[in-house]
Amino acid sequence: MLLGGAAVLLSGTNRLLLGANRRLAPELVLHNARVWTVDPLSPAAQAIAIADGRILAVGSNEFVLSGAVAGTRRVDIGRKRITPGFIDAHAHPATSGLEYARSVDCGLGSIEAIKTALRRRAQQTAPGAWIKGFNYDDGKTPRPISLADLDDAVRDHPVAVEHRGGHSLFVNSMAMKTVGYDRSTPSPPHGLIERDAGGNLTGKVADDARIPFDRLLTRKATRAEWRDAAMLISRRATMRGITSVCDAFGDVDTLQGYRDAAAAGGPPQTRTYCNIDSKSIQPFVEAGINTGFGDDTVRVGAAKFFSDGSISERTAWISQPYVGTDFHGVPVGTREDIYRLASKLHKAGWQLATHANGDLAIDEVLGIYEQIQRETPRRDPRYRLEHCTVVTPSLIARIKALGAIPVPFSAYVSFHGDVMHFYGEARTRHMFAMRDFLDAGIPVPDSSDFTASPMDPPLWLQSQVTRTDPQGHVWGANQRISVAEAVRCGTINGAYSMFEEHLKGSIQPGRLADLVVWDQDMFEVEPSELSRINPERTMIGGRWAYEA
Ligand SMILES: [Zn+2]
Repeated sequence: MLLGGAAVLLSGTNRLLLGANRRLAPELVLHNARVWTVDPLSPAAQAIAIADGRILAVGSNEFVLSGAVAGTRRVDIGRKRITPGFIDAHAHPATSGLEYARSVDCGLGSIEAIKTALRRRAQQTAPGAWIKGFNYDDGKTPRPISLADLDDAVRDHPVAVEHRGGHSLFVNSMAMKTVGYDRSTPSPPHGLIERDAGGNLTGKVADDARIPFDRLLTRKATRAEWRDAAMLISRRATMRGITSVCDAFGDVDTLQGYRDAAAAGGPPQTRTYCNIDSKSIQPFVEAGINTGFGDDTVRVGAAKFFSDGSISERTAWISQPYVGTDFHGVPVGTREDIYRLASKLHKAGWQLATHANGDLAIDEVLGIYEQIQRETPRRDPRYRLEHCTVVTPSLIARIKALGAIPVPFSAYVSFHGDVMHFYGEARTRHMFAMRDFLDAGIPVPDSSDFTASPMDPPLWLQSQVTRTDPQGHVWGANQRISVAEAVRCGTINGAYSMFEEHLKGSIQPGRLADLVVWDQDMFEVEPSELSRINPERTMIGGRWAYEA
């Protein structure tokens, strides 16, 4: 049997790589483990041999240890569970890392606590300079933070607090004044300047309405800041069992940050598949670079587009209005604009990835992809639908027919139970529709959209297996999947979404040695306790990236 030029010997559950160029002596053997390989041919094993950052053999203790030589390190895993390293198929690591380093973390449970944090930062900031908050979640405070709250906290600095969903800002009066917004300013076509019943500004601005703020808020980070940001988030990710991430919205600077982090010589960094913002893509196109360029550590991913708003911020573009309103969310960009550039990039060999949360957005983006594939057919293009949250049976049938990949939020029901009532139980039966995707034969991956929700595979498993929020409310029980299915989505399916299933996402001879040793077995704990399991150690490329 030939696999990528290397012979694989099958002997019961024992599998060994007999690669022509590979040394056969293992450097490391992990044994006495309960290995879940995600390899359908032999899902369970006891031991793994590793050399040159790759997996050399997988099988019984006896079989794998028999290949050890005098120099082989042997590690007894004490019958702990090992899985492949998890893959976060949509997150924002470097930009999140910058926020943690430079802005005020507003992921706090009370408006008073947020005001105190902003006030403290104001005392250390030159008068008139902007203060930026991040990680704010209006579902986690008793009511949304208001213009009056922010004015009460800080008067002499413009303040902008970003929602963790990434689409809206909550700003104070000085910020409004600085950009020239007042109660008579109309909302732009693809954005929202929110007003209360009396027509007064609430302080919330969303999507294109935030552009003037972003222009003033954004200070270009230095090369060292990007590197440190990438390293900071890699550390957080490996602590939760993640070994690969797709940066859903990168550019030259973020890409360089990941390269520099990998070259810094510290612990191994999470591997990055870096999607490129379609607005920043021209230098790549001119250099002849497209999807797949790079190496196993940092690779250029898809071209990224947007078609609507967010779920947690209730701006996703949906056919049935938000419960109790006549609001359908907001489309972002026009079909024609997305089509024109996407079609060009498709022809240049780029994978396409478009943010589409609501059913109307998904319908539009599928239509664009279908047209592009009809006009310029390409084998296995793996069109990505980022989030792909609210679906219908007909949308799922079109996704399957096109071979497209939905990339839903994995932790939403458990983490964002507080916003589910805006959508209603009937609609949540068709949101984050893991059961429907798997039943249709669609290889759906897992993702966090960090900082929109935590980079936390145990929480993803709990959310997908139980569909239960922290208050015990069940949302869309029809979409529950099993632990084994959820592990598969979080590993090999993530690799597939990046064209890397031959490299990672399973524990098989020849694959990269990316794996996690867990303190408790996800196949044995109560589903409601899944989020409490922890990695003891996380390995990337045969080296420990994290050890508890
Ligand atoms: Zn995102």
